[in-house]
Amino acid sequence: MLSISNPPLHLSTRKISMGKPHAIMVPFPMQGHIIPLMELAQCLAKHGIKITFVNTEINHDRVQAFSGNEALDDRIRLVSVPDGLESSERYIPEKFMETVYEIMPRNIEELIQEINASNEDKITCVIYDQCLGRIQEVAEKLGVGSAAFCAAAAALLVLGFNIPRLIEDGIIDNEGSPLNNNNIFQLNPTMPIISPSDFVWNRSKISAIRKLVFNIMKQNNKFMKSANWLICNSVHNLEPGAFTVATQITPIGPLLSTNRPQNLPDHIQEPDPDCLKWLDQQPPCSVIYIAFGSTTIFNKNQFQELAMGIEQSNRPFLWVVRPDSDKDFPDGYLDRVTTHGRIVGWAPQQRVLSHSSIACFISHCGWNSTLESVSNGVPMLCWPYFADQFINRSYICDTWKIGLTIDEDENGVVKFDEIKEKIDRLFEEDVFKERALCLKEMISSSASEGGDSYKNLSNFISWIRG
Ligand code: UDP
Repeated sequence: MLSISNPPLHLSTRKISMGKPHAIMVPFPMQGHIIPLMELAQCLAKHGIKITFVNTEINHDRVQAFSGNEALDDRIRLVSVPDGLESSERYIPEKFMETVYEIMPRNIEELIQEINASNEDKITCVIYDQCLGRIQEVAEKLGVGSAAFCAAAAALLVLGFNIPRLIEDGIIDNEGSPLNNNNIFQLNPTMPIISPSDFVWNRSKISAIRKLVFNIMKQNNKFMKSANWLICNSVHNLEPGAFTVATQITPIGPLLSTNRPQNLPDHIQEPDPDCLKWLDQQPPCSVIYIAFGSTTIFNKNQFQELAMGIEQSNRPFLWVVRPDSDKDFPDGYLDRVTTHGRIVGWAPQQRVLSHSSIACFISHCGWNSTLESVSNGVPMLCWPYFADQFINRSYICDTWKIGLTIDEDENGVVKFDEIKEKIDRLFEEDVFKERALCLKEMISSSASEGGDSYKNLSNFISWIRG
């Protein structure tokens, strides 16, 4: 007879494999896409769904190293597939394209076949980042359900869906370039106003990347139409216009670790262990938090202007300067700011933003950072750099009005006095904080029981369970 009180470990593993729903989840191979999909994986696992979470080797190692056993439900298995690239090839757009469009779908197909031929629970659905559209073809070929996941704002999807109309109306040409730089554009009266030169695909200086992003978006539109679900890490009340014009998008956000009861890590890099303790020592609403996500890099001149702007504001600050950035601080800087500034290589950002000492966030406006700031009622100083960050800025500054934009001078440089002036305004004009708190209130219930996102996620889970 089996012992009920103390089952050996392998028995609990076997129990999961007795016909449980089993989802394979595939993030786009970039950190800002992996974190929210991992969060979704944890939600699904909590509801009894077995997860095989597939990263490329390089990301797999990071996820295992920093989120591994401590963070993950035991129903989640981490698996890696090769990206087929030499390290020198990772920044070549064509090579990257080959990975996401050829190599990853092929590897995922083989993995599903392998799992389905084994004694394990069969794969019942594939949840893939919508940027990896060709995985939809794999799902259809193998006859499994599919859900495309958008790690960005719904507005980004709506923009992509409208590419044919934008070409037809003469806003952009067939390659996505603006036909008139003075145009400003709004897809719906409640959606952000943007200039075509700020469309996602146009915000790179490298023409190969502009083409790459434009083509990915065009092709993915086709794939997303065939997916059983198109889910998005957003909230209905944040983007009512986008969800009205594209009812096929289902918001299930915000997917944040702070929404979970367990106090689990929310990162795939080693965060500074002491910065939360440092924040505990600062007065309420006094600290400027500065972080630009996982990829943004400044040149030396711009970095120094930023450093001086922060210094001139003469307030406590926590600044993330990633280990892969050049740390070109002005002479004597670190000594001068040591009494009130803390500079770290990586912060536990979600917990930093929920700390009562944080007054404002200087950000590149990545969607995860935006959601994290909004969810904590923190006003933002917006310094977008690439891709969808410009749409997000428009939401923050023009639609929600919870932040200010940092402007470049005529030479394309953001000067220190501009940074200082905008920081001062965020501190002095209470209206930003008031609106940020209203917005926080408005969306805080969406992921809780009975909220819009909660209901959508429940329906999605019911579908996975069949
Ligand atoms: N992040 C973090 N610590 C840091 C900087 C960033 O944990 O020091 C996290 C942040 O909380 C967010 C993600 O990294 O979840 C960055 O995603 P985002 O979409 O904002 O920007 P991306 O990195 O994709 O440009």
